[in-house]
Amino acid sequence: MVRHRMHALMSATVMAGVVGLAGLAGCTAAPHAGVDAPELPDPAADRPVVALTYRMADDLASAEGTERVTFTPDEQVCELVFRAWPNKPATAVTGNALTVSAVSVGGTALPLDVQAAGAPSGSPGTLVEARLPSCSPAGTPITADLTFQLRLGERTDERVGYSSRHRIAWFGSAYPMLAWAPGVGWTRDPAVDVAGEMTTSQAYRLESMTVEAPGDDAVMGVGDEVRTEAGSRPGTTAHTFSADVVRDVTVSVGRFEVDTRSVDGRQISVALPPNARASMDDWHTQLRDELGSLSELLGRVPASHLWISVLPGVSEGVEYGAAIQFGNLHPQRDRWLVAHELAHMWFYGLVGNNQAEHPWLDESFATYAQEVVSPADTTRRESEEPVGAPMSYFAGRPDASEAYVNTVYARGGAALLRARERVGEDEFDAALREYLRANAWSIATPDDVRAALAHLPEAVAALDEAGAFRAD
Ligand SMILES: [Zn+2]
Repeated sequence: MVRHRMHALMSATVMAGVVGLAGLAGCTAAPHAGVDAPELPDPAADRPVVALTYRMADDLASAEGTERVTFTPDEQVCELVFRAWPNKPATAVTGNALTVSAVSVGGTALPLDVQAAGAPSGSPGTLVEARLPSCSPAGTPITADLTFQLRLGERTDERVGYSSRHRIAWFGSAYPMLAWAPGVGWTRDPAVDVAGEMTTSQAYRLESMTVEAPGDDAVMGVGDEVRTEAGSRPGTTAHTFSADVVRDVTVSVGRFEVDTRSVDGRQISVALPPNARASMDDWHTQLRDELGSLSELLGRVPASHLWISVLPGVSEGVEYGAAIQFGNLHPQRDRWLVAHELAHMWFYGLVGNNQAEHPWLDESFATYAQEVVSPADTTRRESEEPVGAPMSYFAGRPDASEAYVNTVYARGGAALLRARERVGEDEFDAALREYLRANAWSIATPDDVRAALAHLPEAVAALDEAGAFRAD
């Protein structure tokens, strides 16, 4: 994620330099090394399988949802835990709410215990626990059926919201998210009021995601759109998507112009709102160029179809792996932000992390990659705080979001740039590509970074000096 407004000033000041370098930046239509890079490892065969449905209200201000999730815990479990992230402070405050109304296993409704876990009062709570009738042993698949209601807040500058003026709704991480992490167990990190993510999600197979919406509205999802058919209500269309492996999903619905283009065998779909600040060509050109540069640095793009939604009244970028929400910005002017969110396809989508405990594992690395391929000097406001600190640490600092950005993005990104400088680009880039390969589709920890860089002690030292490996 990047909150665009925080960086707006600094990106404007470096624009002159960026324009001057445009011809040298390597962002051309040249063949992309990453495309020819080795195949990525397959995700775990026993990864969770999820099926979702959303039935949109006619005004797009709410949705009724169902979820079926099958997962195989690697420890005994006596309860199921789901997270309702739209109830975190930053999105609850404008009226967004995700209410889980039922969880059942084998047709038996389970008692629900919903806890605020950082949600403001009046909000449904971010932590949903459902006790099983009896404990289930490790290695036994469990299938749960859930029903939920999603309410969207008008003009929210965040990952869920809607605009009645533009007739556009968007909702990311807006379903009961299974909170199981292999080797760790249930993750119950509280939501905090800091501008960033706090989720932990195993990579899963999205068996299907069906979004039923009024027939005139465009629908953006993830993976492949496998069919459209008449919806269950007159005048509606049901759009069904499916994906072999995702870590999260986001949906956008409404009066978009959508254009899908093929680049190096990969599909890129872009949805623009009626008041878009840049043209379809501008977006596709910049996405193609940044994706090409990133794949040269990081290896094969870990998705075959990329879904980009440009949203009215939103000032940030939010990553969901192979789907991204962008504010209504100009992609050439803010190419660093385009690169940043695309870099999350590798650092979060491919290699996941607990974003509450180790936010630097996706944000420092995405900032680093962004600064390598489209430098904008966003790392210059380095704080003195430890890069490896959890979200709860920043929540307790004065100016929490600023402390978080100046530490996890700026100081962490700068530390990685210093590490690369000390050990040499080729050595560092190879080590990072091996880190991505070795931890593909898993939930990585700082120990995995340390292991990947163990043969480059000067790189480890650069991260250590910035407090990345702090014991917390
Ligand atoms: Zn980010």
